[in-house]
Amino acid sequence: MRKIDMPPEAEYIINKLESKGFKSYIVGGCVRDSIMGIKPHDYDITTSAKPEDVKKIFSHTFDTGIKHGTVTVVINKKNYEVTTFRIDGDYEDFRHPKGVSFTSDINKDLLRRDFTMNAIAYNTKEGYIDIFGGIDDIKNKIIRGVGSPEERFREDALRMLRAVRFSAQTDFEIETETKKALIDNVYLIKNISAERIRDELIKLLVSGNLKKIPLLWETGLLEQISKRLYDSIKNNENMIALQLNMCDKKIPALFAILTQFIAPKDIKDELYFYKFDNKTLEQIICINSIINKNVLSDDYNVRLMASNIGVDNAYIFYSVKMAMGDKNADEAKNILYKIIERNDCIFLKQMKITGKDIISMGIPAGKRVGEILSYLLNIVIRTPEMNDYDVLKNIVIKNFINI
Ligand code: ATP
Repeated sequence: MRKIDMPPEAEYIINKLESKGFKSYIVGGCVRDSIMGIKPHDYDITTSAKPEDVKKIFSHTFDTGIKHGTVTVVINKKNYEVTTFRIDGDYEDFRHPKGVSFTSDINKDLLRRDFTMNAIAYNTKEGYIDIFGGIDDIKNKIIRGVGSPEERFREDALRMLRAVRFSAQTDFEIETETKKALIDNVYLIKNISAERIRDELIKLLVSGNLKKIPLLWETGLLEQISKRLYDSIKNNENMIALQLNMCDKKIPALFAILTQFIAPKDIKDELYFYKFDNKTLEQIICINSIINKNVLSDDYNVRLMASNIGVDNAYIFYSVKMAMGDKNADEAKNILYKIIERNDCIFLKQMKITGKDIISMGIPAGKRVGEILSYLLNIVIRTPEMNDYDVLKNIVIKNFINI
């Protein structure tokens, strides 16, 4: 097995801990990704040193999850999470261990991890610590629960959704016994918080994996997460998987596709569950309300769409419609790019005439001024060249001022 080329800061932390008599390794996702030839996005370090030792050894640290033994060490302005080897106590509520205890045995720490591919530790001196055969599982493209998958899932039900998400991200198969345990315990996902479910769903959908996204409904997970959503996509699953595969990997677009058969009257209730931020929520609701409209790809209609729902939402709408096979959507998206580049007027604030100008022409301040501005905006959306102060002033004089 090849050596892992880890960042000098991680190597430094490990060497420093070792020089003080502690064991230390990189562990988890970074080892898995390195074996797969993927550049890890971060490097987690595990050590026999207790948090207070870590804080004494390194000059720049801050507490991250001190209860769970995690201290962040800052080297060269980069953050590394250093976690003491730990054993999780009995689990309560199918998610959280009652307590954790520290250990000096790396094997015990690996035992608490979810899948064999995530339970490998590594340092340059000792090489790989791989007591569950994670390297072979990675080579054979298999996701396997550590020890008894049944117990693993009953301890922490989130691991079931993680299994499906990892399967989609890596294109690995979930091993038979692990999959059976998942299906048998699928109802336990109800114990998991909406935010954790949402975050896993996002990673799963972003993977765009046509073959593996269907595990979400085939395992029964989706029906447990939201019966309404599951019922809404029933009989259209293959089409949805294909659209998710085709779509830009943006969260509002992906969720708009997933929830496309949920009626506008129910969409808010459905989306509130996932606790999206307000902007994302508003975007998905907006797309849901127009998802069945055909795209009109002439300049005027694209400007009108952007003016009505905003530029960002218009891009999302066209992305979604492209994924849904609307033949005009690609062209409409290109037209939108050009409209933005040319700075065509689509909003009141871009108009060459203002409310103040209209008032100074003798129209009393009030509702009427707003109506006149909307009238003028409609004209310039149709004909951008008319966005000229004198042209617009003349229109006001001709149509709204009795001479
Ligand atoms: P990614 O960052 O791509 O989501 P990752 O494996 O790094 O992948 P993290 O959630 O950062 O994911 O977890 C780091 C490591 O902690 C995992 O590789 C695994 O060893 C362990 N781990 C994380 N969550 C769980 C869990 N719910 N149950 C058991 N072990 C877990």
